[in-house]
Amino acid sequence: MVLFYMFKMRSEAMKQMILIATTLFSGLALAEDCAMTIDSTDTMQFSTSEMVVPASCDSYTVTLKHTGTLPRNIMGHNWVLSKTADAQAIAGDGVGAGLNNDYIKPGDGRVIAYTKVIGGGEETSVTFDVNALSADESYQFFCSFPGHIGVMKGALKVQ
Ligand code: ZN
Repeated sequence: MVLFYMFKMRSEAMKQMILIATTLFSGLALAEDCAMTIDSTDTMQFSTSEMVVPASCDSYTVTLKHTGTLPRNIMGHNWVLSKTADAQAIAGDGVGAGLNNDYIKPGDGRVIAYTKVIGGGEETSVTFDVNALSADESYQFFCSFPGHIGVMKGALKVQ
């Protein structure tokens, strides 16, 4: 009888632990779905060319890391989001805005979200409102450091 009780208690405790573990895990998975980390390098590359933002997220956070060693005035990177049709013009105007403005024209209404320009070993992040985006629109993310948009760009979809 005592043995039976002990067994029963242990299996109840195990059930509890599994329940707690499952709850923790699904909480983590939810948080991960509404955030992403993207790496950038000394060889002018982003670690991905496609990003998918779940439409179920209210907001989405992109963390940009620079895994290289070069300084921001030589090989600086940022992460900029706009409609695909606006990207080239934003980058073009960004050249004139200069590094002090993170190569983004101040008050540029075409920019949906952007991070500051970082150098090797640094990281930064930006959070934007997913409800302001449409699943029917074509979006592009890119680096607006002069000359980088040619290779540092990718597609962002909401679905
Ligand atoms: Zn760059």
